[in-house]
Amino acid sequence: MLRYVESKPASAELFRMVIQKMAEWGCAFTPVHYTVVYEYVAGINPPLVEAVDAFRKNGSELSGDDLEKIFVKYIVPDYVLPLNDYRGSLARQLQTILQNISSSTSQTTQEAERVHKGMESYSHSLQKPNLDERTFRVLVDAVLKDTLSIKESSSSLETELVKNQKKINLLQDELRIAKAEAMIDPLTGVLNRRGFSGKINDLLHGEKAAGKPCALLMLDIDHFKKINDSYGHMIGDKAIVAVAKILRASIGENDFSGRVGGEEFSIFAYGVSSEDAVALGERIRKNIAKVEITNPATRNKIAGMTISIGIDSATFGPEWESMFERADKALYASKSAGRNRVTLWEPSMTGFHKKSHS
Ligand code: GH3
Ligand code: MG
Ligand code: MG
Repeated sequence: MLRYVESKPASAELFRMVIQKMAEWGCAFTPVHYTVVYEYVAGINPPLVEAVDAFRKNGSELSGDDLEKIFVKYIVPDYVLPLNDYRGSLARQLQTILQNISSSTSQTTQEAERVHKGMESYSHSLQKPNLDERTFRVLVDAVLKDTLSIKESSSSLETELVKNQKKINLLQDELRIAKAEAMIDPLTGVLNRRGFSGKINDLLHGEKAAGKPCALLMLDIDHFKKINDSYGHMIGDKAIVAVAKILRASIGENDFSGRVGGEEFSIFAYGVSSEDAVALGERIRKNIAKVEITNPATRNKIAGMTISIGIDSATFGPEWESMFERADKALYASKSAGRNRVTLWEPSMTGFHKKSHS
């Protein structure tokens, strides 16, 4: 995954800040420590920032061990195990489990075959006339021995199966986590486009949202190119993270937000009227206008930002995807009308589309 996208001057500035921070925190200058402090200073990995802050909360120094733990937990999964490799690794683990099961069942089957043949021959011997007591005793001993042996073999098969069942359960958990992570945008921690649409589709299969009024909000940061051009991509990313944070804090417990484009977000809410949705949009718009983006080096405020919002309100059902188009039209009506505003879709907006607002 490519997540270091800074320009040369921005990365040089980051380099200076990272080295300064490492000296301040008393870190050894190893690549692992540098990467953790880099992602911290750049602010591109919010869970990592939280983890580092938590480690340092009581003013204690970050030990090499702490930094390595943070590296493994918050950075390695994105690099060493991108999803395809990850699937490959899961497939290999499953393959090993299958081989184990197959070899222990085949051992048990061979043993059962041997015992089966033995029993047939004992039964044959029993049918001989004039069976003496010694032969009879030998036969009984042999039957007992074979019975114990098949019992042992099937109990080791059972142990092997239980062991492998546990491994399969662990694999299932890992798959569940991998699936959830594939739905999340790594920069902001909110759902990505696939996760957002997937979650709405999931609602179609349940009772909770069916037939209820619902709303789709489309949000796009105003003049975002200017923020990038004036302050660099890193500050641009900080702005995107700040918006995601406000969305997460503003929505209700039934609602969810997603980053559906570079600086475009969506919110889906159900059980809300169109008035509720407009009020939610207004709250978000006002909170975003209050954000102050600061230069991480000087802590000076360098930019503010505004957001435009378009909303469609409907009854929730299988045609929900058409709400995207209408909310998008309402969003561009907001842009056309001067930005930093919330617009609810209405039929007269059929003419609006992306290119008509500049
Ligand atoms: P408007 O008010 O009309 O929306 O103007 P705008 O400048 O925001 O225009 P537009 O939405 O077309 O611009 C999106 C810009 O966002 C273009 C792209 O360079 C930038 N961008 C997209 N993804 C990212 C990202 O992940 N990080 C940063 N820093 N910039 C991004
Ligand atoms: Mg845009
Ligand atoms: Mg924009």
